[in-house]
Amino acid sequence: MTATLEATDLRKQFAIGRPAIDGVSFAVPAGEIVVLLGPSGCGKTTTLRCVAGLEHPTGGEIAIGGKVVSQPERGILVPPRARDLGMVFQSYAVWPHMTVRQNVVYPLKHRKISRTDASKKVDEVLALVGLSEYADRSVVALSGGQMQRVALARSMVYRPQLLLLDEPLSNLDAKLRLRLRDDLRVILKQTGMTALYVTHDQAEAVVLGDRIGVMRDGKLLQIGSPDEIYNRPADLFVANFTGATNELAGTLIARNGQFGTVDFGGGRCGEAALLQQLNPGDKVRIALRPENIAIGRQDGANSYTAGIVDRRYQGTQTVYDIDLFGHRLEALELGTAARHAIGVETPVCLPREACWAYRDQGPLSYD
Ligand code: ATP
Repeated sequence: MTATLEATDLRKQFAIGRPAIDGVSFAVPAGEIVVLLGPSGCGKTTTLRCVAGLEHPTGGEIAIGGKVVSQPERGILVPPRARDLGMVFQSYAVWPHMTVRQNVVYPLKHRKISRTDASKKVDEVLALVGLSEYADRSVVALSGGQMQRVALARSMVYRPQLLLLDEPLSNLDAKLRLRLRDDLRVILKQTGMTALYVTHDQAEAVVLGDRIGVMRDGKLLQIGSPDEIYNRPADLFVANFTGATNELAGTLIARNGQFGTVDFGGGRCGEAALLQQLNPGDKVRIALRPENIAIGRQDGANSYTAGIVDRRYQGTQTVYDIDLFGHRLEALELGTAARHAIGVETPVCLPREACWAYRDQGPLSYD
């Protein structure tokens, strides 16, 4: 049985430092994959460990399948083994002296399951992770990706109500990582399991998650579908962390529905989408993805002339540094030809729907 996970106002204060989790609330409906995404130290692993019962929260509530498993205020703390969870970690955590089959059958030994049923479940889960033909091979004779499939099979073989995955792909080389990333979503969806997945890799989050929760400094800044996170980031940090790395500072001088006019200084104005409640006179910062700057084209609002300062040819795309009225921005153009030479002046267009305005709260650190 797959179950809903609910975390409400979750808090964790270690003996030292600021709170590792600072009032985090989210729900993972049964069968959904939620990815917690954020930079190192943002609190995502601590959140997952609190759900697992490996860490003791200092406040808030965690419920799995409607049953409260953690609520410090009332002294409730259900131990990990009684939470009916599967867990997959960064390290493969397979037993090296055993075969694939022996590794996967292991969790069933402590459950009241007949030998025939256990064998059937192992065959099923090995087929699911694509390891049927390796069943009797020693795990040390497997690749890293295959070992992680064994760990996944072992965590799923008893059909826990919730699967927790902590950066399970980060020890794999780039190619295996992409392959298993794509397979993982298919596998999880086939089982219909509820999953909480932690990563700092935005591409992984987008491919795997039904919804993504972006964390920073112990707080959940936004939770939404990949499309929402990518196309309507709630704040400048989420925008930047998910790739809108260009910033332009200015002052909002007029509102026009969902858009506004921004004064960039020096007589330069532009239009931007207002993703927060903003009023004329507010200092704003505009976030903009490099791939949304159209070089060599002037097309309606936000058409300017920029200088090409530098370019980095990457085969299937070229990254340009451009100078736009004194601001250095990065622009990315797809294609195998680097069309614009360093030193030339060229028309550029910043589509207003791709320029997201946020309240200026001073420079952010993005480590
Ligand atoms: P990473 O991707 O590097 O694992 P993370 O986002 O998962 O980072 P956490 O491991 O959850 O972050 O850590 C959140 C914060 O809590 C960090 O500031 C970390 O230093 C702190 N922290 C984690 N474990 C402990 C501990 N046992 N004692 C004190 N502080 C801790």
